[in-house]
Amino acid sequence: MQPKPPKGTRIAHIGIAVKSISASLPFFSEILGLPEFPVDDSDGARIAAVSAGDSLIELLEAQDESSPIGKFLAKRGPGIHHICFAVDDIGATLEKCRAAGIRLIDETPRLGAEGKRIAFLHPGSTQGILVELSEH
Ligand code: ZN
Repeated sequence: MQPKPPKGTRIAHIGIAVKSISASLPFFSEILGLPEFPVDDSDGARIAAVSAGDSLIELLEAQDESSPIGKFLAKRGPGIHHICFAVDDIGATLEKCRAAGIRLIDETPRLGAEGKRIAFLHPGSTQGILVELSEH
């Protein structure tokens, strides 16, 4: 079997916490003209996505107040919640992070939406930005 050619790291999506998808989506879809892209809901959030070139913008609406997005909205209000980088080898990238002393939220990759392997890094180690890694 041929090894997969490396694709390189890129921004897979930017997750934005919103109070209401229906109120926030028209800016992206109608005013900016970004096409909607189907994605699964996950982690207690309803998710709507639009495609912006190679990356998605994900609008994250809390399904309930105790979900991660619900807590984020209560504390900080709407805004950028996380940036997701797609990497070729999530296991190797997590190891590099661990070796560099970066705090990991997920010690090992877990299955996220669309069956991709994902892991989150602690914002305390990444300039206050919650970083998600996902495998292509
Ligand atoms: Zn994400």
